[in-house]
Amino acid sequence: MFDSLSVKFSSAFSSLRKKGRLKAEDLNEICDEIRVALLDSDVSLDVAEEFISKIRTRSLEVLPDINKGINPSQQIFEIINEELIEILGGNARRIRFAKNPPTVILLTGLQGAGKTSLAGKLAKYLKDQGNTPILVASDLQRPNAVTQLQIVGESIGVPVFAPSPGNGVGDPIEVARAGVKFAKEKMHNMVIVDTAGRLGVDLELMKQAKSIRDAINPQEVLFVVDAMIGQDAVVTAKAFMEGVGFDAVVLTKLDGDARGGAALSIAKATGRPIMFAATGEKVEDFDLFYPDRMASRILGMGDVQTLAEQAKKAFDSETSSKLETKFASGEDFTLDDFLDQLQAMKKMGSMTKMLGMLPGMNSSAMKKQLENFDEGELVRTQAIVQSMTPAERNDPKILNGSRRARIALGSGRAVSEINSLVDRFSQAQKMMKQLRNSGGRGLPAGMGLPSGMALPGGMGQGMGFPSGKSSGNMPPKKKSKSGNPAKRAAEGA
Ligand code: GDP
Repeated sequence: MFDSLSVKFSSAFSSLRKKGRLKAEDLNEICDEIRVALLDSDVSLDVAEEFISKIRTRSLEVLPDINKGINPSQQIFEIINEELIEILGGNARRIRFAKNPPTVILLTGLQGAGKTSLAGKLAKYLKDQGNTPILVASDLQRPNAVTQLQIVGESIGVPVFAPSPGNGVGDPIEVARAGVKFAKEKMHNMVIVDTAGRLGVDLELMKQAKSIRDAINPQEVLFVVDAMIGQDAVVTAKAFMEGVGFDAVVLTKLDGDARGGAALSIAKATGRPIMFAATGEKVEDFDLFYPDRMASRILGMGDVQTLAEQAKKAFDSETSSKLETKFASGEDFTLDDFLDQLQAMKKMGSMTKMLGMLPGMNSSAMKKQLENFDEGELVRTQAIVQSMTPAERNDPKILNGSRRARIALGSGRAVSEINSLVDRFSQAQKMMKQLRNSGGRGLPAGMGLPSGMALPGGMGQGMGFPSGKSSGNMPPKKKSKSGNPAKRAAEGA
């Protein structure tokens, strides 16, 4: 989402860092660069001007002092980080729960903003937290909105209150009112009401949303907005603010390649915090919005906290402790363990998204590598390991030519790919041994990953992780001295 903005920040900082002692002109220069970067990213003019003016004032104030320190540019970087967090909403606010359940959440926004999908994502999120949500189908306008909500509800195991068929039939205000009553009777502690949008802002739409609001008196009215619509997001948000009023914003489609200005302008322009963010079409593509983590990503510091949380979720405690015990006892890391890791990584979702959360990923070279990352590699690697017998997974040394040929046939991959995987795996095993001998020093700390598991990409190339098309940065392979004929043939080719 913030790719181009992030690349521009990265280049502005690298020129500032080279300067050492800073002068007022240097500060003006970086302010100008950031201003252009923000406007290019569709950040609204007012927000950009206010942001720059704060940075300029604060940096000029500290200029005499920071030049006494060893790293003046770092201080400026910190000021920019703080101000970026501020325009993204400062401290994130979370859902207010009703004193007497159910807590009612009303979703509003334009058609296509992602409200119905969001209803499902939010319900799953709340259910995972131990709540008992119910979805209410009050979008009776958009074709198939009711059915779509029912399908989502079924897939996540959340009941859907849908007494009217929709497609233009039924009274959305009555449905919302009855939905809340139903939730109370059935002891659901949360109600999420999906409402109709229109293609553009119109009075009829506002009137309906306001009437629903008055009828059910929700704890939270969430304005759902597609981050891809750029500058229009702010205009629409302001119209909804006046017409319906809302308590917080949900940004959807943050996975898109739009320039991100909406996210940067909306909290400031409406005075309402961004509470949630959706980053894809699947129900899992959803998280709380953290202004500090977003700022960190934009400034190229990555988002290691989110990465660690996702890893923790994906690696169940059983897999983690099994690996930890193995690692501690000196047992070999086998292809079965590797398979466990691959499966957990698949649970973590898109590798490109994960790798994008690592610090330093905002240079244009890194971005290119990420773009070329081949997500299918994980699936192919898994197919290869699954085509091996338990004995082979336990001791890959027994993988002779005919076994490799059989695995290639079974997994539908070329023998050279089997060889390459086994090679990378042996390197990983060796690295594990070295790590163990060094007392575990060098393991990525605090990543919530099982001991001995490095991150993929640059940090984990040697760990047997799929390298994808971006393997151009891998160290050159040693010439094989293997006696394996299949391997020699493949290498020759
Ligand atoms: P509604 O009219 O506001 O209820 O919008 P929908 O929930 O039907 O979403 C409109 C389209 O956007 C659907 O095709 C969704 O799959 C898609 N969508 C929703 N949220 C996201 C998101 O975060 N990322 C992406 N890429 N697509 C999304």
